[in-house]
Amino acid sequence: MYRGERAAGGSKGEVGSVDRKRINEALDKQLERLSPSTSRGISSKDKSSQSSQMEKHQPDHYRDSRSASLPKAKTSGDESETDSEESNVSGSDGDDTSWISWFCNLRGNEFFCEVDDDYIQDDFNLCGLSGQVPYYDYALDLILDVESSHGDMFTEEQNELVESAAEMLYGLIHSRYILTSKGIAAMLDKYRNYDFGRCPRVYCCGQPCLPVGQSDIPRSSTVKVYCPRCEDIYYPRSKYQGNTDGAYFGTTFPNLFLMTYQHLKPQKASQSYVPRVFGFKIHKP
Ligand SMILES: [Zn+2]
Repeated sequence: MYRGERAAGGSKGEVGSVDRKRINEALDKQLERLSPSTSRGISSKDKSSQSSQMEKHQPDHYRDSRSASLPKAKTSGDESETDSEESNVSGSDGDDTSWISWFCNLRGNEFFCEVDDDYIQDDFNLCGLSGQVPYYDYALDLILDVESSHGDMFTEEQNELVESAAEMLYGLIHSRYILTSKGIAAMLDKYRNYDFGRCPRVYCCGQPCLPVGQSDIPRSSTVKVYCPRCEDIYYPRSKYQGNTDGAYFGTTFPNLFLMTYQHLKPQKASQSYVPRVFGFKIHKP
């Protein structure tokens, strides 16, 4: 059923940011209702600081960029809502792309590795997530490509909500998966492929980075990249990547990664920039 939804999403994505905004607001409302245990339940002080943070980190262009990236991957969604559009989604003829690989190949989602189906199918690994994600069961079905009949009953807006929920659920599963041996190995492949970009600092000499979250609570801040050489964090170079929730990677990942693969930890950067005026070092009083 998701194929139809995906096609519908593709054509709807072009309607513009207004719809996206409305959908995200609706999703926010759903989340508020759903999550007494997580972000919103801490204290009123935290609550207000968090919501202002959310506005800061997830500005309107978050929605724009998402809607801009979706139709691209979902080409020909306008033309027909049949299975024939599937091959266009995958970009190669004939093969049946799973939701997970479709999602990971969207522009801006380059930091995500593909989580094993087996991992997702084990309820133990998803413990506690049903309380954090709205439309949990439908979102899970969507991620696992389980055909279900709900698509016929849902309105377009509800289908969009399920899609957003699936994205969030996948992100939260992902943050757990990349701390497992299989997940960390999948991220090693991506690290070696420079998928997370390189440190912008000149004296780090193009050191490859790792993704990191500043919080493990969803919707509190966007993903950053961590440089193992200067041991600092930076904004990702791509604004599409920069709009991803940091909680989908978590605060532990790069540090556990470097503990696991200690041989990859580079020497600390010894050189640093020296400010000069007409060739002379600036005297510091
Ligand atoms: Zn660096």
